[in-house]
Amino acid sequence: MAFCTTCGQMQADGTRFCRFCGGQQPNEQLIAALRREAEAIRFQLQQLQAQQMQAQQMRQMGYNNQQQQQRRW
Ligand SMILES: [Zn+2]
Repeated sequence: MAFCTTCGQMQADGTRFCRFCGGQQPNEQLIAALRREAEAIRFQLQQLQAQQMQAQQMRQMGYNNQQQQQRRW
């Protein structure tokens, strides 16, 4: 299912023109390109989150090391 980019009415997949307002619908190539773009953005976000998790873990490890050193002293 797709929705008209102009009036928002529901359209069958692969429709070239909206049957309500006649607006041209994005073709499948454009939709595929947008999906790829969304996929790339999601991937970048995941990478960013993974980096943040790692940084957090590193900080925690550093904190633990400090604690151990303090205990050793
Ligand atoms: Zn429409």
